[in-house]
Amino acid sequence: MFAIINLDDERSLDRMEWTDDGQLLAITSTKGNLYVYLTSLPMLAATQQTRIAHLTSLLEVTIEDNIQQPGPDTEQPATISVDVEPSYLGLGPYHLAVGMNNRAWFYLLGDNVHHGYSGGLEQLKDREYLGTVHSIKLNADYAAAHFEDKIQLHMHLSVIKNQIEGETSGTTDERESKLFPDKDVNQTHITCHDMTQEFLIFGTDNGGLYYFYIEDWQYVNEFRHSYGVRKLFPDPSGTRLVFIDEKKDGYVYNPVNDLLVEVPDFSPYIKGVLWEMWALDRGVFIAYDEEKIYTYMYSKEHVMGTRCDLVGTTKLPYGQIPIMLHNGEVTLQTQSGKLVTIALDTHSYLFIDTIEGKTTKELNSCLDQCIALKRWKDGWIFCQQLNAKEYWLKLGYASFKCLDIDFAIRVFREQGDVGMVASLMQIRHLEDRNLLSGYLAMYLGEFNLAQDLFLASSKPLSALEMRRDLLHWDSALQLAKALAPEQIPYISKEYAQQLEFTGDYMTALAHYEKGITRQEIDKDHDEVCAAGVARMSIRMGDIRRGVGMASKMPSRVLKKECASILESMKQWQEAALLYEQGGFYDKAASVYIRSKNWTKVGELLHHITSPKIHIQYAKAKEADGRYKEAAEAYKQAKDWDNVIRINLEFLQNPEEAVKIVREVQSVEGAKMVARFFQKLNDYGSAIQFLVMSKCNDEAFQLAQQHNQMEIYADIIGPDATPEDYQSIALFFENEKNHFLSGKFFLLSGQFNRAMKHFLRCDGENSQAIELAIETVGRANDDQLTHELVNFLMGDTDGVPKDAKYLFRLYMALKQWREAGRTAIIIAREEQSAGNYRNAHDVLFSMYQELKQQKIKIPTEMANNLMILHSYILVKIHVKRGDHLKGARMLIRVANNISKFPSHIVPILTSTVIECHRAGLKNSSFSYAAMLMRPEYRNQIDLKYKKKIESIVRKPDKTEEEEPCTPCPYCGFQLAETELLCPECKGNIPYCIITGRHLVKEDMSACPSCDFPAIFSEYIRLMETEENCPMCSEKVIKQNLQKVSDTHKYLNPEEGITE
Ligand SMILES: [Zn+2]
Ligand SMILES: [Zn+2]
Repeated sequence: MFAIINLDDERSLDRMEWTDDGQLLAITSTKGNLYVYLTSLPMLAATQQTRIAHLTSLLEVTIEDNIQQPGPDTEQPATISVDVEPSYLGLGPYHLAVGMNNRAWFYLLGDNVHHGYSGGLEQLKDREYLGTVHSIKLNADYAAAHFEDKIQLHMHLSVIKNQIEGETSGTTDERESKLFPDKDVNQTHITCHDMTQEFLIFGTDNGGLYYFYIEDWQYVNEFRHSYGVRKLFPDPSGTRLVFIDEKKDGYVYNPVNDLLVEVPDFSPYIKGVLWEMWALDRGVFIAYDEEKIYTYMYSKEHVMGTRCDLVGTTKLPYGQIPIMLHNGEVTLQTQSGKLVTIALDTHSYLFIDTIEGKTTKELNSCLDQCIALKRWKDGWIFCQQLNAKEYWLKLGYASFKCLDIDFAIRVFREQGDVGMVASLMQIRHLEDRNLLSGYLAMYLGEFNLAQDLFLASSKPLSALEMRRDLLHWDSALQLAKALAPEQIPYISKEYAQQLEFTGDYMTALAHYEKGITRQEIDKDHDEVCAAGVARMSIRMGDIRRGVGMASKMPSRVLKKECASILESMKQWQEAALLYEQGGFYDKAASVYIRSKNWTKVGELLHHITSPKIHIQYAKAKEADGRYKEAAEAYKQAKDWDNVIRINLEFLQNPEEAVKIVREVQSVEGAKMVARFFQKLNDYGSAIQFLVMSKCNDEAFQLAQQHNQMEIYADIIGPDATPEDYQSIALFFENEKNHFLSGKFFLLSGQFNRAMKHFLRCDGENSQAIELAIETVGRANDDQLTHELVNFLMGDTDGVPKDAKYLFRLYMALKQWREAGRTAIIIAREEQSAGNYRNAHDVLFSMYQELKQQKIKIPTEMANNLMILHSYILVKIHVKRGDHLKGARMLIRVANNISKFPSHIVPILTSTVIECHRAGLKNSSFSYAAMLMRPEYRNQIDLKYKKKIESIVRKPDKTEEEEPCTPCPYCGFQLAETELLCPECKGNIPYCIITGRHLVKEDMSACPSCDFPAIFSEYIRLMETEENCPMCSEKVIKQNLQKVSDTHKYLNPEEGITE
């Protein structure tokens, strides 16, 4: 249902009739009235920019502009009543043409355009043409009417009038009017035309497209298409034009460079084309047929070249005709004479209210529209909303492909793609579009396109540079032949290297050969090529050539490379030769070994560092029976076990084998040596090496079998385990060897068993007792201690053992007081037996032990030690010829003569003699008189008897007083050898060198035993003696020092427990 019409004042209708074209409906009523209705108007319209003139009634034309922004200058719609129903309309900036058949009426819009058409328009003179007009186009100054197959171009009358009124040039007449085609393009039939401010453009049935430049009144451009041009649609500037040809194909033509681009997916039913009128959008146009509107984007600049793309389609409402496109919105003319608008589906994003709350899919589709329409800034907004790299990249690359470099830089900068930004910055100012597109295509990875573009640009060498950078050497080589022959050698080299890498040796050889320039400046380059030729020759089987070249060239690397190739080809001889020449001796030797050329290996041997080679050589020599060389080679390789084996098995040189085993501590080697000695029945040595090779069990068995357990026991050292010791102990237990059995039980930590065996040993076996004492010391077991004490006291077998064992037992048990008491007993026994040195040493060591344990030294012990030490000093001083010191000490000993019961007479005799020698005549006389007692007289050595008797007979009582030195406690002057101060009653410590009392200002101590001494006397003694008279340790003179802190020596009992 199209419409319902109510006829007022009529009761009923009589008849209805349509005109044949269906445009008019006639109705008669019973009252006799006739009504005629217009059901559809002719669709007649003309546009100028966004202004539209269209038929709104059969005799009424309306001019309106619905796009303009509202404001004071807003143009109001204006209607013009015309006298006849027009068949064509024309609209220019200032004029409207309304026409029918061969006649047109002109109206001047004048200033009314801007202030509304309140009082209608000024009608100008009408005009007749030479035929029926199909269409008329106007610009500011001219009208162009197309009738039959001609165009009449003529100036508007209003313009002529203005020119006449003003001062005018003489050319006006000839420019008033012109008929096309003129004589130059005769015999053509004009099929279509249009006019821009500057040009009259028309197409012809033989494919001509003509641009007539009105200002210069001449043609400026002619283009010949293969088929007749049926319709044309320039954009307002005239720089782009869509035309439809006889085959109903559509094209976009650019008159500036004559470039023709076919419109893709062009419907054969296309009725018209409209360019986008929105000033910021250049390149969008629509084409329409009866059902659809097709949106196209024409891109003059694109990395793939000028192109036209179908963006999408929009359904066209039935019966309506698009007449104007502005910013994605199409104005349609309806059959009822009204104007309506629809939004293009391809521009739908422009008409959404808000982007808030849109899904990613929706936003992405909006972004795609922006990209298709090249509306980058709008795309930016959607990318911000989408906020993901993929969308930014899509936008960036799209703008980049359209050569919109500055925008692409913004996008890539936003994305932080520094590399791409830098690359684009370098090329953004390139004027040469081919060069620019070439780079962009290269960045896009379209290298063939890039090459074509570079070659078409002002810098074709860029194509070569690109191929070189891409390592596309074959393409680079092709380009170099045409563009830069001087680069061929260098590219050939690179190409050859690539070919070599991929295994195409034959081609590589050819290119290496081409690479050689023989120029001095290319020395390094030529060497690389020559090296390549050498390698490739070998690869291709021309070994003689390759090896010859490699030999001659200085490069070691090349020799190695060639040798390696030859090696892989099993050309041992040549490979080894080149390795050798290159100084790769290990490799050379290894190849010689593979070819069994032992002579050469031997020659190279002193260069070889690889143990592997030495071993290989050694094995070969061994196989040949050349054992000496084999051993030497094994030695070079530090393969000691094999050196040992060869020495033992082949060279009959066990000494060398043993030496090596000891040097390198080889376990395997020791085993071999052990086996060797075993074969020789030298079980002792065998056991020794078995232990060395950590085969204790084998060694033990061998010792057991061959009764060599004592040797085994001797050898087995600190590494032995308690189990090892136990095995030995059990063996000896079996053999009833109590001592060794006990010893090894002790070592294995089984103290009870050890003790049992020690106590069964012969009572005189001092070693057994000593070990028994050690056992008790380590076991710390009262029962064991008791057993041993009983044994030592003789309770076990009725034989008391030497007291020194008891002393050692107490020492081992750390029972110091008992030890001290025992020591005194022992010392007394030793002294009684005349073993004064032993007695001295027992007391000394006990003294030291007690001092160390900070235990009070018994006075008797200290006194005995002092007397025994005095006796020892006698011998030292007499031997040195210091008779006075000897005599003084003899006097002290003689005064304690009861402690030396075995030697009373000899000691008194010595005292008499030494005192006499030292001038102590009175003392000499006193002791001589003592010797004259009947119990001693007969024992006097006959040697001295007469002398002593004469001393007694003629008494000489002259004797000087003994010199005095101060008491270190109170300073009282007392005799040198006096140890008890009569003044302070102090017991003064004695000097171990002289036996005299200590002197505070001249004190020292033995560095070993720390017994005090008179410093100056110690130094003097050291002139002839080396050892300390007290501890018998060697004394280094430099270590002797005067002590300033004498306190601890003068007060030895401080800090000592009772
Ligand atoms: Zn004193
Ligand atoms: Zn000492």
